[in-house]
Amino acid sequence: MGRLFLISLEGKIYSCKHCQAHLAVSDDIVSKAFHCKHGRAYLFNKAVNVTVGIKEERLMITGMHTVSDIFCVGCGSIVGWKYVRLISIFLLA
Ligand SMILES: [Zn+2]
Repeated sequence: MGRLFLISLEGKIYSCKHCQAHLAVSDDIVSKAFHCKHGRAYLFNKAVNVTVGIKEERLMITGMHTVSDIFCVGCGSIVGWKYVRLISIFLLA
C-alpha cells in the first residue's frame, strides 16, 4: 500500500517541480500570458494528477474570480490554481 497511482502523459510534458509527476502536456496550453504571485503561469485545458483545494474569491488582474489552488497528488505541493467559474457579463448594445 501507499504507492500512488499516477497518470503518465506522452509528448511535451509539464511536470511537478518537486516530484516529477506528470501534470499536463503542451498540446493543452491555452495561453502562456498569465502572471500571478508565484510568477509566470500557463493556462491549460486540463491537467492530471492534481487535487483541487478550497474555493475562494481572489482578486486577479482581470477582476474578482472564484478560484481554487490545485495540488500535486504525488507530493502535495501547490502547482497552480483553477477558475471555479468564469463570470461573463453581456450588455445589450
Ligand atoms: Zn509533486
